[in-house]
Amino acid sequence: MNKTKYVFVTGGVTSSLGKGIISASLGRLLLDRGYRVTIQKLDPYINVDPGTLNPYEHGECYVTDDGAETDLDLGHYERFLDAPTSQANNVTTGRIYQSVINKERRGDYLGKTVQVIPHITDEIKRRITQLGRKDEYDIIITEIGGTVGDIESLPYIEAVRQLRWDLGVENTIVIHLTLVPFLSASGELKTKPTQHSVKMLLENGIQPDLLVLRTEHELARDLRKKVALFCNVELDAVIQSIDVKTIYEVPLLMQEEGLDTMVLKKLQMNAGKKPALKNWREFMNKLKSSEREVPVALVGKYVELHDSYKSILESLIHAGAMNGVKVMVTCIHSESIKTDNAAEILGSYSGILVAPGFGDRGIEGKITAVKYARENKVPFFGICLGLQCAVIEFARNVLNLEDAHSTEMNSFTKHPVIDLMEEQKGVTEKGGTMRLGGYACSLKKGSLVHEAYGTEMVRERHRHRYEFNNDYLDEYEKKGMVSTGINPESELVEIMEKRDHPWFVGTQFHPEYRSTVLHPHPLFIAFIKAAAEQKG
Ligand code: GLN
Repeated sequence: MNKTKYVFVTGGVTSSLGKGIISASLGRLLLDRGYRVTIQKLDPYINVDPGTLNPYEHGECYVTDDGAETDLDLGHYERFLDAPTSQANNVTTGRIYQSVINKERRGDYLGKTVQVIPHITDEIKRRITQLGRKDEYDIIITEIGGTVGDIESLPYIEAVRQLRWDLGVENTIVIHLTLVPFLSASGELKTKPTQHSVKMLLENGIQPDLLVLRTEHELARDLRKKVALFCNVELDAVIQSIDVKTIYEVPLLMQEEGLDTMVLKKLQMNAGKKPALKNWREFMNKLKSSEREVPVALVGKYVELHDSYKSILESLIHAGAMNGVKVMVTCIHSESIKTDNAAEILGSYSGILVAPGFGDRGIEGKITAVKYARENKVPFFGICLGLQCAVIEFARNVLNLEDAHSTEMNSFTKHPVIDLMEEQKGVTEKGGTMRLGGYACSLKKGSLVHEAYGTEMVRERHRHRYEFNNDYLDEYEKKGMVSTGINPESELVEIMEKRDHPWFVGTQFHPEYRSTVLHPHPLFIAFIKAAAEQKG
């Protein structure tokens, strides 16, 4: 039995350098070399999970099949690796402290003083090695959130330092990602921030094995030599990560730079033959050769920060490539859409997607956007709250149920077409208490979704409290809005479709969490196909 090996990825100089994409790219390359790989993210914030965070704070909350609310980097891992992650792939400081405090309350520490070292660091180490215990993986890549030098990151860095000794230095390596800024006034690339950042890691007892340098310009051999010399790494272990147009190019660039071979060499593992990355390259070719533009409106309320809709935006890119078109997404703030300006704002789009969300703000604008799409026969895709808005719109404007609403927004509505599930009624805690994760959905034959998926049973991920109220289903179906996907056990409505419309689909689940580069999501593909057929 091979021992699981660990790659730790840390970051220095600034945040947002793309550790997640580098980790995911390395994972992809190692998978293609025949190794079993997974990626884990350690987040230094005190929230137990990002489920309670406003998307403005931390971007999208990504949901795994086992129902964990996780960091959006896990989305990148799944999209690149084409393999599911789980709760064990995301650890936060909040979760670490919660379990240490629970153990303390149980008396597990036998009267000892509970301290950051060893109790917190032991718990971090336990979580890191937990994924490796089942012999499912040859290599585990562990990305450490934050930037070296942050107070919050210190226990994680210390845990990594200890693990290198616990697991053996030949079984672990550290990749440090930094920035090489370009000073335009003098026309120079500067390595000093990298040198300082590595010094800071050394102060914490960690010598990185590889350096990945983010840069806007090519790094000359001399510059790399200088970094290697000052930072005690081999010249070949200084890897350049130059800015690219799309994140999907990064694995190919990292292969050219030899990131995977260097990692395997340091881990004393066999590199074997260089993989052709055939499927990946095919996707890239489709992506690059897709020129015809298809304008799509994404109507939401967290539009100022694109990370809020990360998985949806990536799914649209995947679907565009599969259709040979370039999806041009415009994020539109739902608060700006009113009845009298809907045509002006939405008139130029070939597809309208109404996004997931929570709470009252911007809800009427979303409902107005659905009305515009329905009446003008613009391909429409409603996701979670987007479906709920479509249901409300139809009730109000077609079924003539005037004040129809979701009880999330109006608990006194006469027509609660979207209502709280029975089991949600007693729930008071907000964290981790929604309907979360993968559930089965059976599809109606002959429907748009059945055609798109090409199968009768699917499994999709959820993150919501409210549901379609089945008391109204007959009325909807009589008027041409039909349920085409239901949960086979609970009979909850999962999908609604509008008849006599080019493509009008709302899903209670989040298909965007399952779209990957190698398996773009069928519903996004079908939506973009309909949008592409709309104009031209
Ligand atoms: N707020 C809605 C609910 O909780 C929709 C959630 C969502 O769009 N993810 O049911």
